[in-house]
Amino acid sequence: MIGGGNAGISAAARFLRKGVSSVAVAEPQLVHTYRPLLSYVGGGQAALRTAERTQRSVTPKGCTWIQESAVAVDPEARMVTFASGRTCGYRDLVLGAGLVPDDDALPGIAEALHSPAVASNYLDHAEKTWDLVREMRSGRAVFTVPRAPVSCTGTTIKPLFLAAAHWKRAGRLGDIDITLIVDRAGLVDVPDLDDRLGRCLDDLNVEVLHRTSVTAVDPERNELTVTGPDGERLVPYDLLHLVPPFRGPTWLADSGLTDSDRHGVIDVDPGTFRHRTHPDVWAVGDGAGVDTDPSGGALRRQVKILVGNVLAARSGRSMDTYDGYTVAPVATDAHLLIAGEFDRSGEVTSSLPSFVDPLKPRRVAWAFDRYGLPQTYWNLILKGRV
Ligand SMILES: Cc1cc2nc3c(=O)[nH]c(=O)nc-3n(C[C@H](O)[C@H](O)[C@H](O)COP(=O)(O)OP(=O)(O)OC[C@H]3O[C@@H](n4cnc5c(N)ncnc54)[C@H](O)[C@@H]3O)c2cc1C
Repeated sequence: MIGGGNAGISAAARFLRKGVSSVAVAEPQLVHTYRPLLSYVGGGQAALRTAERTQRSVTPKGCTWIQESAVAVDPEARMVTFASGRTCGYRDLVLGAGLVPDDDALPGIAEALHSPAVASNYLDHAEKTWDLVREMRSGRAVFTVPRAPVSCTGTTIKPLFLAAAHWKRAGRLGDIDITLIVDRAGLVDVPDLDDRLGRCLDDLNVEVLHRTSVTAVDPERNELTVTGPDGERLVPYDLLHLVPPFRGPTWLADSGLTDSDRHGVIDVDPGTFRHRTHPDVWAVGDGAGVDTDPSGGALRRQVKILVGNVLAARSGRSMDTYDGYTVAPVATDAHLLIAGEFDRSGEVTSSLPSFVDPLKPRRVAWAFDRYGLPQTYWNLILKGRV
């Protein structure tokens, strides 16, 4: 396994449970983060430490932890090279190294983040998001949703709704103009969900710029350059929550495993997770090209199918197919959330009984997202039990 995030650890645990005796995870970080909680850190509802565990504590017993970065894969020789120069062979390789910010598409992301008015739950600055939201009294707050691929598109809009809920409670909403810049035709590109979210944004008087990409950030002037249907324009900000464009890991680009037409995601069969030209290579999670929006909710289903398929391929059995199930859990108010489950075709699906409106913002859905899912993650998902 390359990457010890949600994908790598839950897959490793599941392989061990299924009796695979030799499992290794390469992961350079010492701290493992449950990323969905970062939205609540940025919204002032959770402390960062509750989203973090040591990498050692989440690495399953019986799994070898290679504590360094992979720098190359040679799929012909079935060999991974690590930053120290050490190499490791494999029978099956699962890539779960996630996405990285695309500095070519938007230069200066790191510099912008270190400036006073810019934060991002998506770039390890969730505590700063909450600091800026709490301190803002008036002016323009700008939030961005990039083009695909991005981790869980729905949650890129969560910071806006949680910030607005705080400003409403503090009696400041009337003094703050909110702009949402969306590099897509819709929002999450699920028509029914977009419709519902659009109404929530209207209720808050949010200006939404669709089909608009951020092409430059000027942290000296607190100004964005954006390009949309009416050409290029400047958008000033007093607070910017930046979700930049992402891409697949650059180090994998030379391996022949990625798809440059889809911003460097790994070129697997979206149904089976098997690489299209190298059958011993597999990928799931944010960095895998599976033709659906990546998310932790999607991974719950993906990992189960992936592990079954690797074992099926080894013993010549037929493989299962992933239908693209994913989630876009969007908090629309401090304690209300739309669970937002959908499939590859953009059709809303639901784990709820059919008479229940799956797109209605609910307190119980928020409580499960905020309190129930973190426990499920640490105790069941990372242990390969669900
Ligand atoms: C702010 C935020 C909020 C979110 N909210 C939700 C939500 O509410 N619901 C939901 O379902 N999903 C949510 N998601 C999405 C969910 O967290 C991701 O889909 C999930 O974490 C993806 O897991 P992954 O293992 O594919 O990638 P990651 O979690 O990114 O893990 C990749 C791992 O690979 C490691 N790595 C990278 N390069 C290398 C290398 N060269 N060698 C070895 N290791 C490497 C990294 O250090 C990292 O640990 C959210 C994501 C973010 C960022």
